[in-house]
Amino acid sequence: MAKLVLGEREFDSQETFVREGRRCGTPQLNDFQKERVRAHLRTARANGMDAAGVTQIDIPVHFNVVHDGGTGDVTDQELDAQLSVLNDAYKAHDIVFHRASVERRDDPVWFRMTMGSPAERKAKTELGKEQHRSLNLYTAGIGAGLLGWATFPSDFAGDPLLDGVVVLFSSLPGGSSAPYDLGLTAVHEVGHWLGLFHTFEGGCTPPGDEVGDTPFEASPNFGPANPTRDTCPNDSGTDPTTNYMDYTDDAGMTEFTSGQVTRMKEQVTIYRPDLLGAGHADAADAARAGIDFETGDF
Ligand SMILES: [Zn+2]
Repeated sequence: MAKLVLGEREFDSQETFVREGRRCGTPQLNDFQKERVRAHLRTARANGMDAAGVTQIDIPVHFNVVHDGGTGDVTDQELDAQLSVLNDAYKAHDIVFHRASVERRDDPVWFRMTMGSPAERKAKTELGKEQHRSLNLYTAGIGAGLLGWATFPSDFAGDPLLDGVVVLFSSLPGGSSAPYDLGLTAVHEVGHWLGLFHTFEGGCTPPGDEVGDTPFEASPNFGPANPTRDTCPNDSGTDPTTNYMDYTDDAGMTEFTSGQVTRMKEQVTIYRPDLLGAGHADAADAARAGIDFETGDF
């Protein structure tokens, strides 16, 4: 099997890379955190939250480019290409992105940041901007061979400075991380940032990824999309290997389901209401009534 080289890490094969969980470092919410999100969703729905009524989410993107003496100093054109890939994936669902700023920093330690590291916190504390009403998208070399990670909407209130998405710089469109070189890592990580789990979350056991129209999946798919793969034969469909929230190669990732779009809009309403247009502010306030974001109680 061919080796896979990502940044400064080399893997024996693409399968090794996927099995080690390196496609995405976004940590799973624990059972308590998941139940807390479910409780918030129940409250907001009881308050009349209407995801279908959310007609436009326009997300300013602050690009924070961390490089090492020029290595990883991606160009403005590459950042614009990444924005285009994000818009191609999301705009059909009324979620659009525009560039708000670009900041560049030469720092060899930050460049190799890993999830949860002091370097991550320092970089995000110094570079992050307007987390409550924008996406901070960090590009870096990332240690440990990861392609990227994200924070969830429900993480925001407890740690706003860490909010955002980090991706390997060479995962941007035209980068050197084939077959992860079409910018779909950012699409996938932004899916987490908007509240989605992996399609294989929870395996074949309900509630799985907590989205009703994504078939259950026992394990991540790697390589090309595979329409006949069916790791949970007792459920109603084959594996969602073309979904942005699986681990399929960039070229095979093509869709969100309507259930995922609803989940994203509901989580924006609850946890990131400042991303909604002014016309939705009152509705978001009403949906959030009675939810205590400051404590762990629900
Ligand atoms: Zn992921």
